[in-house]
Amino acid sequence: MLGIAAFPHSPQPRLIEVAEPSAPQFGQVLCRTVELGVCGTDREILLSERPLIPPGDDALLLGHECLARVEQLGAGVDGLQVGDLVVPVVRRSLNPATERPDMLPFGSYTERGIVHEHGFSTPFFLDRPEYLFRVPPALASMAVFTEPLSVAEKGVHEALAVQRGRLGQDAWRDEAPRVLVTGMGPIGFAAVLSCRSRGWPVTMLGRDLDDSFRARLAQDLQAEYVATSELAPEPADVEADGFDLILECTGSDDVLLRGAAWLASCGVMVWLGSSRISAPRTHDVDRLMRNAVLRNHIHLGTVNAAVRDFASAIGHLERLLLHHPREVAALITARVEIGDSLWHYQHRQPQGIKTVIAYD
Ligand code: BGC
Repeated sequence: MLGIAAFPHSPQPRLIEVAEPSAPQFGQVLCRTVELGVCGTDREILLSERPLIPPGDDALLLGHECLARVEQLGAGVDGLQVGDLVVPVVRRSLNPATERPDMLPFGSYTERGIVHEHGFSTPFFLDRPEYLFRVPPALASMAVFTEPLSVAEKGVHEALAVQRGRLGQDAWRDEAPRVLVTGMGPIGFAAVLSCRSRGWPVTMLGRDLDDSFRARLAQDLQAEYVATSELAPEPADVEADGFDLILECTGSDDVLLRGAAWLASCGVMVWLGSSRISAPRTHDVDRLMRNAVLRNHIHLGTVNAAVRDFASAIGHLERLLLHHPREVAALITARVEIGDSLWHYQHRQPQGIKTVIAYD
């Protein structure tokens, strides 16, 4: 069977032949890949030319956003049936007793398709039931978006937790936070979905012209769209015109600093993006620091997702598919076969959001 692999010293993804998995052993599940999402992390792994390869191998099989079907159950597996649709979690703790693998430091976990464990880009893979989230059949067309949505859900949940920890349990309950989402990639749109699902007012900031496909899609999802070039360096009155929650999804220090100037008092800025490709920086972070101190800001980094975030991602996707099926489906801007997928690992389509590889 074919898999999509990243090799050291090369930015090129390659289709390689790998052995089919054996029948599932005790406690294992054989999964058949249905769809796979291509993500910015895949592109960065390739660009870095230093994939984190599983010990003893010479390449890393990519693929961490996945929808699969249960093909065969090993002995001792309860709670799943052949034919169930499942979404695997990405991160696995090296210590199985850990409750929140998403909070672990590097070195104490693997991530399938990213950190020292092969991903899901093969037609079949073996996994364990505790890493598989069952998803309802009604979600099939969009379930591959569960993983990126869970990352945005974690950002929102963490912001809620810190805000309620310091301001009380009513914070952002009766009065919705005014949200700014920076970036128009899949995580930016996932952040819009997370906040619109909660009924929060959202502004999306991006580089597109107002009449682009993505800017119109943001508006169809009931977000306001503002082009970065139109954003003043700071608002005249940050309390009246600023934002209470900023979900930074570009990984650009420029955008982060511009957005942070719009954070009202007691605002929270969640950093969801970052680049593993280092570049020289010339920014002065004085203003960020001064505003953060004088306005009691919280800057919060988050990565990966917890069980709670997967659960709410699935719940939100279900409701969104009922009420906004056309807009949600529009997030998948390309569906390709594995043979045509390699281009998407090295390029983004100009108005592309999520490329999905269909295996079925
Ligand atoms: C994945 C996360 C992962 C992170 C860091 C993201 O693309 O969605 O699950 O933890 O990369 O490796």
